[in-house]
Amino acid sequence: MTTAADGQGRSDLAARLTAIDERIAVAARAAGRDPAEITRIVVTKFHPASLVRELRALGVSDVGENRQQELSAKQAELAALDLTWHFIGQGQTNKAAAIRRSADVVHSVDRGRFADALDRAAQDDGLLDVLVQVNLTDDPGRGGVAPADAVALAEHVLALPSLRLRGVMAVAPLDEEPGAAFARLRAVAEGVRAVQPSASWISAGMTGDFVEAIDAGATHLRIGSAITGPRPDRG
Ligand SMILES: *Cc1c(COP(=O)(O)O)cnc(C)c1O
Repeated sequence: MTTAADGQGRSDLAARLTAIDERIAVAARAAGRDPAEITRIVVTKFHPASLVRELRALGVSDVGENRQQELSAKQAELAALDLTWHFIGQGQTNKAAAIRRSADVVHSVDRGRFADALDRAAQDDGLLDVLVQVNLTDDPGRGGVAPADAVALAEHVLALPSLRLRGVMAVAPLDEEPGAAFARLRAVAEGVRAVQPSASWISAGMTGDFVEAIDAGATHLRIGSAITGPRPDRG
């Protein structure tokens, strides 16, 4: 078995990254879009900081994490690297200050109280980029605000002085064709843009559905295993 630290592991990683970027470019052109307007975030959850370092050496600028402790630890270890850190996981209100210290973008604002906690955690005049997470399933227990409530949450965020609303984020349901779900997200995104024209980001698309997300206008893809390989056992 090869490890990510040896030469073979690195060239595999480089090959997977190149292959995904080629597929992104093909899908973008097929959708009549410029690949340069799409940001590919590499989701590095459960992988060691050393993998993030290798990705940076391969030119990756944007990485995503879904757990606050893991985000905070890796960001602290790699603070010298020029990386944009995206928090994509469910955010607990009592972790908001720690999330804000480590993340450049929070994709998963799903309720007003979490937005309030992120705003209260501001340490200086800087703005934190945030997205409203939309729940595209019928299960209210899944992450995200109901589509019908997304504009109200966006307006709540807009009233908070230290947050900069950038757009919307979602995960496609497992039991539905992703293109149909992403079409609903696109409609929600248009509603949010109607109240804040600059909030134009759509964070959607993972390993299994990024082509459909690109078709539906995604500006930010969150791709993990297709680039990093399978996630290590969390033990
Ligand atoms: C893990 C994760 C991803 C990446 O998933 P892959 O299928 O490995 O590409 C994207 N978005 C969120 C919210 C995640 O938790």
